[in-house]
Amino acid sequence: MSVVVRTNSPESTRAVAAAVAATFGDGDLVVLAGDLGAGKTCFTQGVALGLGIDGRVTSPTFTLHNRYEGSLVLNHLDVYRLDDLEETLDLDLPELLEEGVTVIEWGEQIDPVLPADHLVIRLLLADADNDRRIEFYAGGPRWTERIPAIATAIAAVAKVEGMSDG
Ligand code: ADP
Ligand code: MG
Repeated sequence: MSVVVRTNSPESTRAVAAAVAATFGDGDLVVLAGDLGAGKTCFTQGVALGLGIDGRVTSPTFTLHNRYEGSLVLNHLDVYRLDDLEETLDLDLPELLEEGVTVIEWGEQIDPVLPADHLVIRLLLADADNDRRIEFYAGGPRWTERIPAIATAIAAVAKVEGMSDG
């Protein structure tokens, strides 16, 4: 089950993310995948907005993990620089995942150590400079059920391009 949307500015990507974040709850895991520079950090800034987090959300490429407090805790990770799965042990993921929403940039790289039921969001560069294609995929049954609500949330702020069972 998936939803696809297009945005044409960082602001519209943040608006989509903020709208989607309103559907998130405690214990949710979101993997951000796709092209370098497509907007994974930008999307996370929108999630933070949606959770009422004030303050700047910056890329955790070097710190690996940033924690913010809003209506829910937001754990923001970027595992681009991890060399092997063993290094994920240092992140103490099982404990992180217990609290709030966890968003992991490049999370597909550590897929084997993640709970299977998560939301995958692929951000892709498109034809024009500021155009982005954003695809939302349910990783398991819990998220499949939630895709229609996510599509509805997105439709309030952007044009949903498609929804499919695949
Ligand atoms: P990533 O974390 O995926 O490497 P970033 O979020 O750090 O990407 O950077 C995305 C860059 O693309 C930012 O400089 C942002 O301003 C720019 N940008 C231009 N158009 C868009 C868009 N539609 N959505 C998101 N970012 C965009
Ligand atoms: Mg980033």
